[in-house]
Amino acid sequence: MTKLQVAIVGYGGMGSFHAKLIEENPNVTVCGTFDILDTRQKVAQIDGYRVFESLEDILFDNEVDVVLVATPNDSHKDLSIKALQSGKHVICEKPVTLNTSEYSEVLEAAKKVNRVFMVHQNRRWDEDFLMIKKLYTDRKVGDVFQIESRVQGANGIPGDWRHMKEFGGGMLLDWGVHLLDQILTLVNSPLKSVAADLSYVLGNGVDDGFMSHLTFENGVKAIVEVGTTNFVKLPRWYVRGTDGSAVIHDWGEKAQLVKRSNVQGVEKPKPIQAGAGLTKTMAPPSELAIIKETFNETETMEDSFYTNFYKVVTEQAIPIVKNEEVFRVMKVIEAIFEAAETESIIHLDKYSKAVSI
Ligand code: NAD
Repeated sequence: MTKLQVAIVGYGGMGSFHAKLIEENPNVTVCGTFDILDTRQKVAQIDGYRVFESLEDILFDNEVDVVLVATPNDSHKDLSIKALQSGKHVICEKPVTLNTSEYSEVLEAAKKVNRVFMVHQNRRWDEDFLMIKKLYTDRKVGDVFQIESRVQGANGIPGDWRHMKEFGGGMLLDWGVHLLDQILTLVNSPLKSVAADLSYVLGNGVDDGFMSHLTFENGVKAIVEVGTTNFVKLPRWYVRGTDGSAVIHDWGEKAQLVKRSNVQGVEKPKPIQAGAGLTKTMAPPSELAIIKETFNETETMEDSFYTNFYKVVTEQAIPIVKNEEVFRVMKVIEAIFEAAETESIIHLDKYSKAVSI
């Protein structure tokens, strides 16, 4: 089997992580790297890679099959188009571009030269997400009607360019793109409306977090939230269905399910003291009325990102990360920006059906 030769453009945090992913996969290999910073060129050399002197050296090198774009977000469009026009297949980091109009230009270029363009939406492979997907599809808590997906930290926005609008910084384009990609592929129903609030408490020119409320045509509602000023974290996932609720507290943890038992004749909850008053409504159900379960099953992903990419290039396999799905996520991101800016609910008829590209 001939391995696909991948050249990494941008040897920063993610570029060097890709180098490891690529070397672990039998279908692909790193044939070299290029970074505009000398310091990063040196790191790549120390890591044992051939270092290209310029982007053009990569583009004119016939040995290079694939260009991996792992640079700050504002450069994805131009680098991807240049690589495609020189006949390379392209893997691009998320967010694919800054908006859908840039993305359309990239897709147009890929179509013209008949090369594969795939976005690295790697969090489709996250175990916690695949657990939620399995739980959702197998109706482990009945028909799901509400999903809350959150990532929260207390370290502010990391790095340098992520603070700046001109580089495509901000948390909606950073973590938001992952969580929205997950939720849209999970619910798999047209989106009806979006309401959103962006946070600017750190005083950067870009959002340091956001909260969005999504309503899907099948009735499912989702809250998607990213925070970087949260010293106390809420659970990573909280799901409610017609038969019970599920929670995953953090990455690497199992889902905890609490379901209605349907045991007949269970004693009704008695009022409890709550604060300065009494409540029956909020009293815990009796142990007989519920079933507690730990759920650890995950939806299966047959191929890793790179194996799937290899098959797409060599066997015209169906990409796991489809461009139309990524396009839809970018449309929703635009709707979230609009909803936050105008403080209104955005109705998504214009984005709801499969977007034609
Ligand atoms: P980084 O700042 O650590 O690295 C970016 C590197 O690109 C730097 O070394 C910089 O010198 C280099 N660079 C900038 N412009 C360049 C150009 N024109 N040509 C060549 N090199 C150039 O940033 P990062 O955290 O590695 O992020 C890079 C990309 O990866 C971003 O798009 C980010 O959103 C994405 N990312 C994805 C994930 C994921 O899980 N999929 C995680 C982190 C970052």
